[in-house]
Amino acid sequence: MPTLRLLLGDQLNSEHSWFKKPDSDTTYLMMEMRQETDYAVHHIQKIVAFFAAMRVFSEYLQQNGHQVIYYTLDDPGNQQELAENISEIIHTGDFTHFDYQLPDEWRLDGQLKTLCADLYEAGITSEAWDTEHFLSSRSDLKAHFKGRKTFVMESFYRMMRQKYSILMNGKEPLTGQWNYDASNRQPFPAGHQSPEPLLFITDVRPLLNLIRQAKIQTVGNLADPEHFGWPVSRADGLRLLNYFVENLLVHFGDFQDAMTPHAWALYHSRLSFVLNVKLVHPLEVIETVVDYWKKNQESVHISQVEGFVRQILGWREYMRGMYWTHMPNFATMNYFEHSRPLPDWFWTGNTRMNCLRHSIGQSLDYAYAHHIQRLMITGNFALLAGINPDDVDAWYLGIYIDAIEWVEITNTRGMSQFADGGLIGTKPYVSSANYIDKMSSYCDGCFYDKKKKIGEKACPFNSLYWHFYNRHEALLQKNPRIGMVYPTWKRMKEADREGIIKQAELYLDQINDL
Ligand code: FAD
Ligand code: SF4
Repeated sequence: MPTLRLLLGDQLNSEHSWFKKPDSDTTYLMMEMRQETDYAVHHIQKIVAFFAAMRVFSEYLQQNGHQVIYYTLDDPGNQQELAENISEIIHTGDFTHFDYQLPDEWRLDGQLKTLCADLYEAGITSEAWDTEHFLSSRSDLKAHFKGRKTFVMESFYRMMRQKYSILMNGKEPLTGQWNYDASNRQPFPAGHQSPEPLLFITDVRPLLNLIRQAKIQTVGNLADPEHFGWPVSRADGLRLLNYFVENLLVHFGDFQDAMTPHAWALYHSRLSFVLNVKLVHPLEVIETVVDYWKKNQESVHISQVEGFVRQILGWREYMRGMYWTHMPNFATMNYFEHSRPLPDWFWTGNTRMNCLRHSIGQSLDYAYAHHIQRLMITGNFALLAGINPDDVDAWYLGIYIDAIEWVEITNTRGMSQFADGGLIGTKPYVSSANYIDKMSSYCDGCFYDKKKKIGEKACPFNSLYWHFYNRHEALLQKNPRIGMVYPTWKRMKEADREGIIKQAELYLDQINDL
């Protein structure tokens, strides 16, 4: 029967069973649409990367004998909306069946269910297929935690290690230890240089012109469209993976949490984009890393490997499971009832706080910041300052090359903003300048003084940290993970406490001028 099969922009899995052999009755549909460019203000590199990857994928399918309808952004037939385009193509193309792969976003899931109900009324059958990408189903996490009130990642991760027999010896961890966090996470030694990030050279000038002509609102920069640095094909994704194992894995865990103004990717893999659009499969990433370690055990310590496997087999799958367990409620959670708008300088990097200027600046330049910059610099500041989680989400959803709601919102609203009241993190991730100074060299070149809590040039993180804990005492004082925070606060002289709160309020009043 004549079948139309939808491929969304993050469903570029060439290894999917759909593509085993071409079928003259089957046509694939791919579309560049305003509904996707406009649901958030995206980074220019993010839109370019998605469309470029879709175009490469469509060519690959056609070269392999598959029939493809590809709507460019400016195609005269393109109505820019998913349901409208599909209905029109089905009816004019005389298709009698519609297939799609399960989308990873609640928003698209709803749209497709409604569309299929409408198609059914019109006599068109439809079927939803698995994406054959993730290592757990939408509901596996819910089943794993059934009957339990807390959703501890470590428990899910150990189950996944056993399920896929990764770094395992039967039911026990291969090296006798599940977790090497304690030996990881060192600051960068002075003068240490990480290898240069591997950049690619796709010419995206035609795409950039198209996006500019369509007047799509974007954020961020694209300095050299002749040499676009992100991988947009499976071949380049695999090159990036090999570059990672050969050059970066050796220190991945060691410097996982380190920050420096002198490098923007350090020892991180930058694989999140090719993973999230499914050009590369998480199991092939994990297996490549583990195989490399098995052959190079004298030079690569297990702590680097376990630390990396945990991110993909643990955190990535866990976040997806949490998304499908807690949506749609998750998207409106605001445990602390924070309501302050995001400062303007989040969109420009124009602040005197060196840590924020650098983390935001590199996000604007590369559509990338690594995990600790996202969590302990931008996220930390937003939480301390009481920014509305809706604003924080919109920023993270737009600015990062890898931002797709299932993994963005769980990390932002959950892990970073604690707006879920502790479903994902057991305590809020906040810190004063102390932690930032320990893990980075940002403070050395800063306008503000990392040591001062009050007075001229006092680091805003220091007073905002105490302001946060003071204003949320009722919600946080019984949290066992918070340790000595409240006893330390109470031990301070009342005048000192008042001075700190006054300083924080002054900064909050002038937040756009920090
Ligand atoms: P590496 O450090 O090399 O890690 C390897 C891989 O592990 C990543 O590619 C990613 O697939 C996975 N991973 C690591 N940490 C996480 C995590 N916490 N959750 C899920 N997967 C993880 N990741 C996204 O993919 N999209 C997002 O929109 C996103 N938003 C975030 C927002 C905030 C506030 C925070 C704190 C984290 C966010 N993350 C997001 C998670 C993480 O920061 C990125 O996956 C990582 O920085 C991507 O860079 P990398 O590929 O170099 O990762
Ligand atoms: Fe950031 Fe404060 Fe350090 Fe400046 S002094 S870099 S604002 S933590």
